This record gives sequence, structure tokens and C-alpha cells, in this order.
Amino acid sequence: MAENQTRRSFLQNLGVGLGTTAAAFTIPSLVSIPESKPKYEGKKLGIALVGLGSYAKNQLAVGLEQTPNCYLAGIVTGTPAKAEEWMKKYNIPKKNVYNYQTFDQIADNKDIDIVYVVLPNSMHHEYVIRAAKAGKHVMCEKPMANSVKDCQEMIKACKDAGVQLGIGYRMHFEPFTKEIIRMSREKVFGNVKFINSNFGFTIGDPTQWRLKKAMAGGGPLMDVGVYCVQGARYITGKEPLAVTAQFGPITDPTRFKDVEESLSWQFDFPDAVTVNGFTSYKTNIEQLFATYEQGFIHLSPAYSYGPIKGRTSQGELNLPIVHHQANMLEAIAREFQETKMFPAHISGEEGLKDMKYLTAIYEAAQTGKKISLV
Ligand code: NDP
Repeated sequence: MAENQTRRSFLQNLGVGLGTTAAAFTIPSLVSIPESKPKYEGKKLGIALVGLGSYAKNQLAVGLEQTPNCYLAGIVTGTPAKAEEWMKKYNIPKKNVYNYQTFDQIADNKDIDIVYVVLPNSMHHEYVIRAAKAGKHVMCEKPMANSVKDCQEMIKACKDAGVQLGIGYRMHFEPFTKEIIRMSREKVFGNVKFINSNFGFTIGDPTQWRLKKAMAGGGPLMDVGVYCVQGARYITGKEPLAVTAQFGPITDPTRFKDVEESLSWQFDFPDAVTVNGFTSYKTNIEQLFATYEQGFIHLSPAYSYGPIKGRTSQGELNLPIVHHQANMLEAIAREFQETKMFPAHISGEEGLKDMKYLTAIYEAAQTGKKISLV
């Protein structure tokens, strides 16, 4: 609880109110969704949230109240008091409420089209696979899982069951982020030369799951560092070739017995592009800076719930401020309603790539060696 407050107040301090494609780009197009949305009048997709913690309660459920094409149809929780509260607040019928023991019965529930896993990282693997076996399409929060093997098994389970799998990469739908991706792809300032991508905050409650390696998979790298890896990938549209990394000093041994306190890394990308990454649970920082042959872009805040702010060497970026989760869920639902697929750029395969890079960053920091990614 204390952790959630700290995390939320950090995000609030940052201002949170609780294109064309090039063949060389390896990430499926992030800019294909039209900005002008036709009014949706069809059947809404039913979404069930699994794990009613901070993100589900304060962001996803709030977002689902604003989406015209999908809605909160069900919940899965281990806390009976939350079940009562959410049923009343969101008018959820009892037949659409599950706990972790009854979860598999969701297979028989026609109201639920998509199961959205918002559990601690170590539980993503089990619940994505159980959702797939229940025949439901699955959204899973970042980081996709705690290991490459788990990600591979999740992808296989969804393929075998013939269901869609998406990772909750909300920045892919956010207007400032989409604009800088467009500018990079269209080479408005020429080729990118260097990227600095940082995300850290001051963590609270020393007993929380985010500080336990078995549940979190690691420290800030797994939690918010994944945004920095994503940022480098969507700016360049390419995949890193190699990485070096260094753990920062432990200044707070009470909290950082099990996971890193901070971590810096350096990615070599194709065309001699260097990416400096930094993530921390003891430093408030959040920016995505890229310099190009003839200019720069700078987003800060770049990854939290916003409002995202940005400028380029041409001046301030003035773009719509959106509710990230409503915006993301509406876009995913629209793509699914039109194509029966989730957007390719948030697929399980993309989550798996990020997991490989996170794993390589840890290996580089542990060994002191440059780790090849090709
Ligand atoms: P919380 O700790 O706030 O919530 C996790 C919830 O999972 C709990 O409230 C609980 O819900 C359920 N749960 C089941 N078993 C356990 C267990 N053993 N220990 C703790 N919780 C358990 O976490 P968050 O909501 O902050 O994060 C959940 C996921 O969402 C993480 O993967 C995180 O990385 C991701 N996230 C993504 C964000 C984004 O911007 N995309 C932002 C924040 C988080 P119940 O009582 O209902 O069973």
C-alpha cells in the first residue's frame, strides 16, 4: 500500500491525474491506427481483469469506463472484499466474478472475450497459459514474464489454443510517442545517431513483491527499464546487436537485498547508433532523448501515465493528451473487431524480444562482458 502511494505520488509529481513505414524497420508498424475514429456502434468486447491491484484499479478499470468498444465484463481476484466492491462499482454480475481457484471456469463464460493479466510478474506465465487453455484471448502486463523460456511457453500456449496474445505496451498508442516514431521513420532530422533512455522512481514499502526476485524477476530493469529498451527499439525501428551493462551501487541494503537498486547499460544498434539506458528504484528520472544528423527529440515525461511532454529541435510538440489505458484498450479492441487479431507491434513475440534483451543486460552486468545479441 505504502509502495502504491509512493509510486502513485511519483507519477502524480510527473503530472499524472490518477505514419509511414520503412522496410528496414523490424518492429511491426506502430503508426497504422487512424487518428479519426468512426463512432463505434457494434457489440462491445468483454474484458476480465485478473488481479485487482494498483494498476488494474487506478488505470485499467478507469480506462475501461471510457472505451466505446470494450468494457469491464468480469474480474478475477483472491480478495473477497475487492470482489464485493468492484461488483457494486462496475455493475458486474456475480457469474462474472472468479478467484484463482475457479479461474478456469471462465472458459464457459460468453461475456468474456479477453482476459487481461495484471498480476505480479512471476504469475503472468501461469495465468496467460490458463487463459489460453480456457479459449480466451489474452492481454498480459509488462514485463511479459520472468524468463525467456516462460515467454516462449506463453506464446506456444496461445498459438496452440488459437487465441491472440498482446502485451500492455501502452506507449505504442500514445500521441507524442507515435509522433516521434513517425519523425524517426520519415527521417525528418536524418538518421538517428544516439539515444538516451532513462526511467526510475523512488520505491516505497520494503516488503513489496517488486523487491523480491522470485516474484518480480529482478529490480527496476524488469519494472520500468523495459520501457527504456522499448523506447530505443521504437525510435530506431531496429534490434540491438550487443550490450554492456553495470549495476549501480547499493545505497539502501534494507530494500535491495534481492534485486538491483539501479542499472546502466549501453546497446550497440545497427549503423553505429549507441543507446545509453539507465533505470533505478532510488532516482526519479524519466526521459527519452534522441539526437539525429540534423536535430533532436526529447520526451520528458516519456513513459509514465502522462501528460507526456516533448520538444524537438523544431520546437514544442503540441499533441492531444490522452488517457493511456483507455486509448490503448480502444485501439486494441478496434483492431481486433476489424481483423480478429491484436496489433502485431504488441504481440507476445515483441514481449519475448524485450525479455531476451533484459536477460542479456543482466548477463552483461553480472559478467562484465559485452553480450552479443545476434
Ligand atoms: P499490485 O501489487 O498493486 O497488484 C497486484 C495484484 O495481484 C494484487 O492486488 C492481488 O490482487 C494480485 N495478487 C495475487 N497474488 C498475489 C501475490 N502473491 N502478491 C501480490 N499480489 C498478488 O501490482 P501492480 O498493479 O502495480 O502491478 C501488476 C502488474 O502490472 C505488474 O506486472 C506490473 O509490472 C504491471 N504494471 C504495468 C503498468 C503499466 O503502466 N503498463 C503500471 C503498473 C504496473 P487481488 O487481491 O485482486 O488478488
